[in-house]
Amino acid sequence: MTCHTGPVRIDLHTHSTASDGTDSPTELVQAAVRADVDVLAITDHDTTAGWAEAAAALPSGLRLVRGMEMSCEGRDEDGRPVAVHLLAYLFDPTAREFANERERLRGERVARLRAMATKMAADGLPIDFDAVMADAGQVVGRPHLARALVEAGVVSSVDEAFAGPLSVRSPYYVEKEDTPLERAVEMVNAAGGVSVIAHARARSRGRLVALDSIRELADRGLAGLEVDHPDHGGSDVDLLRSLATELDLIVTGSSDYHGTNKTIELGQYTTAPESFDAIVARASGVPVLSAPPGDAMTVEDGTAVEDGTTQEATGDLRRIR
Ligand SMILES: [Zn+2]
Ligand SMILES: [Zn+2]
Repeated sequence: MTCHTGPVRIDLHTHSTASDGTDSPTELVQAAVRADVDVLAITDHDTTAGWAEAAAALPSGLRLVRGMEMSCEGRDEDGRPVAVHLLAYLFDPTAREFANERERLRGERVARLRAMATKMAADGLPIDFDAVMADAGQVVGRPHLARALVEAGVVSSVDEAFAGPLSVRSPYYVEKEDTPLERAVEMVNAAGGVSVIAHARARSRGRLVALDSIRELADRGLAGLEVDHPDHGGSDVDLLRSLATELDLIVTGSSDYHGTNKTIELGQYTTAPESFDAIVARASGVPVLSAPPGDAMTVEDGTAVEDGTTQEATGDLRRIR
């Protein structure tokens, strides 16, 4: 139970072991309680696989927003393709087209990581793709390869791996085919979800999505912009905030917590209650979950979505009185 007094703390962007975080969904909700977070969104990359466990572990006093961070392809100011992450909140995980697209994205992740590991191994780096996969959860990502590089002594830290062999400028880097951003926004909306562009000005990650394409997306159903984020500098925060005002978009702030894969703490960046309310008001896919004091909660059977070889769970709850 979160017992602190003071402002409501809302962190709407976190990762678990369902993708590339180091906390299991259970550990993630426990960490949120320790960090005095009142509203937590679980937003693993391209999967809802962590939802059920997080929901089942939800302590009273903490509200859970079920979400995801989707791998998309947008355009930069010169019209070149650029990786964009789209946060999707409170969507219906059984919406078929969207579920199929998530499964396709997870397949792209495996293929890309295999190709990068193969290039590294061919170059003499001590990387074993099968071992990397064995250590990873359901959704693999470059952080898994980063940890393998650290363990092999190729680099001294995950950050160093991302700045070097895993960066987009590295000869080992391999592209993957992500969802066109506009299409992603449409799919999230069709599933009753709410879409927010994540860390749109994270310069350290490479080229940036064009501001004009954000303007176009705002006309086509984009709901918000993640403004306060550890990878945003002050002038970019100001720029995004004024763009959100211009386009009447919801402003969010989040830690993008990855456990010990990054140095950011849960709740280090937060979202204002009015913004959270606006997200909830727009959503029609699944509700925000909370466990009132004294109520035990359980995961409902029969709501799992099975997509080929991959199982996702909805994490829907019913209360046992
Ligand atoms: Zn991201
Ligand atoms: Zn993230």
